[in-house]
Amino acid sequence: MRELVIATKNEKKLHELKRYLKEVNARVISLKDIKQAPRIIEDGETFKENAIKKALTVSKFTKGLVLADDSGLVVKALGSKPGVKSSRFASPRKSDRENNRKVLKLLENIPSHKRQAKFVCAAAIADKGRIIKVIEKSCSGRIAFETKGSYGFGYDPLFLIPKYKKTFGALGLKVKDKMSHRSKALKKAREFLKKYL
Ligand code: IMP
Repeated sequence: MRELVIATKNEKKLHELKRYLKEVNARVISLKDIKQAPRIIEDGETFKENAIKKALTVSKFTKGLVLADDSGLVVKALGSKPGVKSSRFASPRKSDRENNRKVLKLLENIPSHKRQAKFVCAAAIADKGRIIKVIEKSCSGRIAFETKGSYGFGYDPLFLIPKYKKTFGALGLKVKDKMSHRSKALKKAREFLKKYL
């Protein structure tokens, strides 16, 4: 059985990704399992650029199969911010609470119909040091007026799904799994990997 490295050290993200990849015939490990894994600076201008950089860097290092994702929140009224800087929007500390607070502050006087947002997820798969697949998917919603719920991570407590009138943070992973940017991208990745392997 081949090994598939997920190019992340984020435990919560890894947990989500692993669930989508259950049907893939590979032993799934993460960057945390790799000794002296290369440090990757996410300096791309797009989610795709970052995902490709992560997948390529790790695959060149391991000489094997790697899946990387890069994701974030895009808010229309903020000129597409926080975008690729989603995790460190408020400060380099990467604090979810501070990031959510900053988005709320910036949208303070913005009415509900102008609070459109989307989550975007780019996934890149590399093998033996070359890219073999790139996928990008998104999920639309609105920014709530206050944080609600404690499921998920990042901006989940702020990301309102109009159909349910609840945030991802309140809805929980079962609903998120059905419609999120990451689940859509990873389902495509899973189908690709099933054929590839
Ligand atoms: P990265 O993909 O590890 O660079 O992280 C992107 C950042 O975007 C995360 O730290 C979160 O702030 C945000 N983000 C990405 N996907 C999600 C999600 O599914 N829910 C909430 N926030 C997310």
